[in-house]
Amino acid sequence: MHRSRPHLFWTRLGKTFAYVVLMLVLSSGMVIAAKSALHGKVIALDAGHGGQDHGAIGASGSAEKHNTLATVLILKELLEGEGAKVVLTRNADYLPGYKAPSDLERLTELIRARTDLVNATEAHVLVSIHNDSNPNPELTGTSTYYWRSPLLAKTVQSHLVESLGTRDIGAIQHGFRILTRSKMPAVLVEIGFLSNAAEEKLLKSYWYQVKAAQGIINGLRAYFANR
Ligand SMILES: [Zn+2]
Repeated sequence: MHRSRPHLFWTRLGKTFAYVVLMLVLSSGMVIAAKSALHGKVIALDAGHGGQDHGAIGASGSAEKHNTLATVLILKELLEGEGAKVVLTRNADYLPGYKAPSDLERLTELIRARTDLVNATEAHVLVSIHNDSNPNPELTGTSTYYWRSPLLAKTVQSHLVESLGTRDIGAIQHGFRILTRSKMPAVLVEIGFLSNAAEEKLLKSYWYQVKAAQGIINGLRAYFANR
C-alpha cells in the first residue's frame, strides 16, 4: 500500500508527460496543416520605374526605382515562404520595354511591356509598388490606387497603414495605365513620400521595406481569405 503511492505519482507524471507530448505533436501538426490563404496563389509584383527611369528623387537624393525594387524582392521572398508563386515585371535595375532614348518621352506607353508580361501569366492579382512625391515637402502618408478592384485596394491599404503607422490617405480610384491595362485585379501602392525627408529615410531603410512588405502581405492574405 505504502509503496504504491510513489508508483501512483510516477504514473500520473507519466500521463501528464504523455499528454504534453501529445499536445505538442497535435499543435505542431496543426501549424503545418494550416495553409496560408496565399498558398498556390500567383502574385504579380511590379517594381515601379527602373533603369533610365529613376522615378521620384528623394529629399536627400535617393531614387524611387531602388526602393521599389528592394521592397518587391522582399515581398517575393515572403510570399514564396507562404507557398505563393511570384511573377516579377523586373528583377533588377532596368526599364522594361526600353529600346531607345526617345522611349523616355513616352514612359506611360512603356507600361504596356509590363502589363503584356503580367497578362500572359495566370496571376490572380497585380501589385505595383511606388514611392510618392509632392512639391509640398510636409506631405506624408500612404495611399493605394485601383481602377476595377476597390476591395483589393481597401484591404491592402488598411493593412499597410496598420503595419507602417502612417497617415491613411485612402484607397483611390485612378486610371494609371498599369491598372487599366492589366486583366487581373490590380493595385498601385504609394508606400510613402520620398519628397518628405523623414519618410524618405524610412522608405530606403531595409526594416521599413520589410514592414511595408508584411503589411501588403497581410492585406493580400485577408483579401484571399474572404473569397
Ligand atoms: Zn512611381
